Amino acid sequence: MKYALITGGSRGIGKAVCLKLAADLNYNILLNYHSNTEAAELTKQEIEKYGVQCDLLKFNVSDDAAVQSAIATWKASHPEDKIEILVNNAGITKDGLFIWTNTEAWDTVMDTSVRGFYNVTQAVLKDMLRSRYGRIINMVSLSGLKGNPGQVNYSAAKGAMISATKALAQEIGKRKVTVNAVAPGFIKSDMTIDFDEDGLKKHIPVNRFGDVDEVADLVSFLASDKSSYITGEVININGGLYS
Ligand code: NAP
Repeated sequence: MKYALITGGSRGIGKAVCLKLAADLNYNILLNYHSNTEAAELTKQEIEKYGVQCDLLKFNVSDDAAVQSAIATWKASHPEDKIEILVNNAGITKDGLFIWTNTEAWDTVMDTSVRGFYNVTQAVLKDMLRSRYGRIINMVSLSGLKGNPGQVNYSAAKGAMISATKALAQEIGKRKVTVNAVAPGFIKSDMTIDFDEDGLKKHIPVNRFGDVDEVADLVSFLASDKSSYITGEVININGGLYS
């Protein structure tokens, strides 16, 4: 059976990606989340309505030992199954001017995105290389391209993921494993729930925030066979806000 592993798949963009990969590509889903088990269980039920399997994997992507152990245990109980798609989606913000940013706010934001990318990608990449097929999609941000005041930690984390995407793509292209990044602007989710959409949308050419499904459609294309000749790219999805 073919699986797609989505980190932070229980809510927001990650949830929409899980549903889309199940609906469009008929993949079974390995849904990682951190703490909200109720949300993960509800998402699992929605995914399984598409007739695929959804396994929940609870771990903190930045915790090396937890990631290794959860994925190794899953692999041991699924010896015939393959993880063909990895979406490194888990990410958090701890915003504030850099001058007021403390070590905890710096480290947790960096660790969730960058260490998370390292930990989870390391855990699945060898198998993808062996089977000479894989899709890795990293959820980054407009902040990682442009830099955003009040988000020096988050901009640094997403910027690091963008560079890692480009470098890793060049290392493994020959093995038919592609690595791309998706860089959303303002998308409606719990992360942006307190944002002033009416004020901010004036700066967005299409005059609105994006929907999680719009991001998931892009991820679904990158996760499919149709994207075989695209690797090392960062694709903006921001309503024209920045390119
Ligand atoms: P969200 O609604 O806050 O959902 C975050 C998801 O990540 C949840 O499933 C959460 O699980 C999980 N998560 C958080 N920390 C984790 C950890 N340490 N280990 C494992 N899972 C963890 O966020 P979102 O808006 O969907 O954002 C998803 C991604 O898109 C992030 O990387 C974010 O930076 C990026 N992004 C979002 C926007 C936007 O406008 N929303 C824009 C640009 C980029 P629990 O519920 O269990 O904690």
